[in-house]
Amino acid sequence: MTEITPDDASADYRKLSDADWRRRLTPAQYDVLRKHGTERPGASPLNHEKRKGVFVCAGCDNPLFASETKFESGTGWPSFYQPLENGIATKQDRSLFMVRTEVHCRRCIGHLGHVFDDGPPPTGLRYCMNGAAMKFTAAPGAA
Ligand SMILES: [Zn+2]
Repeated sequence: MTEITPDDASADYRKLSDADWRRRLTPAQYDVLRKHGTERPGASPLNHEKRKGVFVCAGCDNPLFASETKFESGTGWPSFYQPLENGIATKQDRSLFMVRTEVHCRRCIGHLGHVFDDGPPPTGLRYCMNGAAMKFTAAPGAA
């Protein structure tokens, strides 16, 4: 896991104001990505997305997770055991009287969810994502 460091890829997104983000995103996307909100369990249609493809950031289209790494965690949130390279960054989250590891989009720094160490092999990690923070792009010809 990588700590957030400013780089060229994210520079344009860091210039966007709060008003810009409100315009770019739906209210549900804005609440999660920009206000660290958490959607209701089971709220996202992406929970049931089983096609082959890529989950991308709803804020900037950065590829985050491949469908091959998605698993059914039973939590009601889309869950993955491994992110794509350059997809995400993490930082410590000390809110709610707990220390959790928060997961951001590496490019626009939008909040995606948290990562826990009770996931399946091969990583043992569980990336617990808000579906509202992502969009799904099906692979060509995916059924
Ligand atoms: Zn993003």
